[in-house]
Amino acid sequence: MPKSQNTFYITTTLPYVNAEPHIGFALEIVEADVIARYQRLMKKEVIFNTGTDEHGLKIYRKALEKGVDPQAYCDEYAAKFSELKSLLNLSYDHFIRTTDPKHKAAAQEFWNRCLQNGHIYKKNYQVKYCVGCELEKTESDLVNGKCPLHPNLEIELIDEENYFFKFSAFQDQLLKLYKDNPDFVKPPTKLKEIQSFVQNGLEDFSISRLKSKMPWGVAVPHDPDHVMYVWFDALVNYISTLGWPNDIENFEKFWPVIQLAGKDNLRQQSAMWQAMLFSAGLPNSKQILINGFISVDGQKMSKSLGNVISPKELVDRYGIDATRYLLVGLGSFGEDMDVSKKRLDAQYTADLSNGLGNLCSRVAKMCEKLQANTDVSFSPAKGRSFPSAFTKKMNNFNLSTALRQVTQAISDADQYLSDQKPWQKIGEAQISILQSAVEKITEIAWLLQPFMPQTAAHILKHFSEPKITSMQPLFPRLPE
Ligand SMILES: [Zn+2]
Repeated sequence: MPKSQNTFYITTTLPYVNAEPHIGFALEIVEADVIARYQRLMKKEVIFNTGTDEHGLKIYRKALEKGVDPQAYCDEYAAKFSELKSLLNLSYDHFIRTTDPKHKAAAQEFWNRCLQNGHIYKKNYQVKYCVGCELEKTESDLVNGKCPLHPNLEIELIDEENYFFKFSAFQDQLLKLYKDNPDFVKPPTKLKEIQSFVQNGLEDFSISRLKSKMPWGVAVPHDPDHVMYVWFDALVNYISTLGWPNDIENFEKFWPVIQLAGKDNLRQQSAMWQAMLFSAGLPNSKQILINGFISVDGQKMSKSLGNVISPKELVDRYGIDATRYLLVGLGSFGEDMDVSKKRLDAQYTADLSNGLGNLCSRVAKMCEKLQANTDVSFSPAKGRSFPSAFTKKMNNFNLSTALRQVTQAISDADQYLSDQKPWQKIGEAQISILQSAVEKITEIAWLLQPFMPQTAAHILKHFSEPKITSMQPLFPRLPE
């Protein structure tokens, strides 16, 4: 059964539950939320998936260190990630945890399919391993014998018999996938990067661990001595969340998926996972959107530098919708982004306090004054649609440029008021200027719905009342 044109399935990566939610993941999940909300406004039936990745050595050790049961440790962190839903007003409808029994059963069925198709075998495994990344490292990945992403962790040597996935068998199929789908990875620079990685030859990767050393994983079917390597089980979440393999109807209704990921996830999502899908005889993902890294004042964010910005800190300072606006405004997929508190403050003040907020309160006040003495009513158009220039950007996931179009519309409306000076006019002339201003504000709020849902709904409601009243500031001035 071909996928219905009327469904849309989007997912974030599943964050690993060994740390608090950080700003990079907040950006990823807000972007996914903006896309999901937009698609719902376009009358699509949407599934928006997120969740938590809960197996593996790193989590097992952390739990031991804290003296708690690994499941209890995961429960605590999964709750922290699910708190993001209200913190950032997210509209996801699936939250999959890789410790869910239905996910574990799906991962086992997936393993069986790959095994039956001849892509899983056992061999002795000797490798350098970074527990921080939960990834194998070759000599060329290391700097001074350490993982450059985790310089404070020792590289470990693994020497045991493991199951392997025949990644090397999928080189031609992967290259064809990229060639036939030039948008498969966005931005194009990241597609080039993964293409050349695959072109250079693929090495089979280990997909199990000895249970005696690392019990915190999904059991390998028919081999009680092994558990699955965390990546192999976690990647299956994108289909287990749809009910695969039991609910094939739902799977076929929504698959393939649009995936978001950070650039450190490029290989896993756009090569390893795609090869696993080939192996299991399932269709590939639809598209992978890759985010850059976020730095703070030009420096890598790190606990030791004390420059970590948490999503909660942003919401405390700017409010939910302004945080969403500032995050999406940071840049486009693939770009590395730099934040500074000073720049965020300046942007909040210029675009939101002085921009949108001021525009709304000025116009509301003038309408109130006029309506106090007349029976004039303003009735903005109902049943709007998105203009095609905006739609095109949103459909191509160019979120920050779509948002800039809205910011431009706010400046244009301000300019319109400065040029027309309705406060100097009387009678019909004034009414017609205010009518246009209300129309422009309503249009702006309409476009803002996916980005700033509460603010947009508030403005739309306020300016469609028969009597428009003064408005409380939408974006209060920041404390000094
Ligand atoms: Zn590492």
